[in-house]
Amino acid sequence: MARYTGPSCKLCRREGMKLYLKGERCYKDKCGIEKKGYPPGQHGQLKKKLSDYGVQLREKQKVKRIYGILESQFRLYFERATNMKGITGENLLQLLERRLDNAVYRAGFASSRTQARQLVRHNHFTVNGKKVNIPSYLLKVGDVIELREKSRDNKLIVESLETSEGRGTAEWLSIDKAAFKAVVNRLPERSDIGYDIQEHLIVELYSK
Ligand code: SF4
Repeated sequence: MARYTGPSCKLCRREGMKLYLKGERCYKDKCGIEKKGYPPGQHGQLKKKLSDYGVQLREKQKVKRIYGILESQFRLYFERATNMKGITGENLLQLLERRLDNAVYRAGFASSRTQARQLVRHNHFTVNGKKVNIPSYLLKVGDVIELREKSRDNKLIVESLETSEGRGTAEWLSIDKAAFKAVVNRLPERSDIGYDIQEHLIVELYSK
């Protein structure tokens, strides 16, 4: 599937906040937002007032970029969220959070979602004992994500696990680092997302 392959830090600067797209670098002084906290481009430092549409659009782009989702797939998540019980915006975030690549990142096996996606694609994980290499695989309560035996000395994964404490933990996962395992103990809630997101703006945008 096509993906954005340009500089990640530009995306954070465009959204005016850290989206944590580059792993450990995001926690250091080298972070693009720390160095240049204004939007990219020739006129990036000029203050521009956004229209209501512009504000809604930026919010949608922000969430797509955090989870690394393209427009067509994001639309499908939105449609699914509207058909679920509860608040559409929160449903949308919950669906994104339940993706396998996101859980691999949240559990500490990868230092970014991009890295997590790659690891999932390369068959490093099982879900409930079966090989799963689909990053968008939607997890449910009770699912067990496990790093495969042959991948347990993978340098990237070992380093990610060692530094994962600093990236925070996901309360909806029970993580057992020693056993290279994470269990979905409940569905993620709004308070688990941890980013400054105004999801109602996305709902407003798509409801036009
Ligand atoms: Fe964003 Fe990370 Fe780059 Fe900082 S280092 S601007 S958080 S991608």
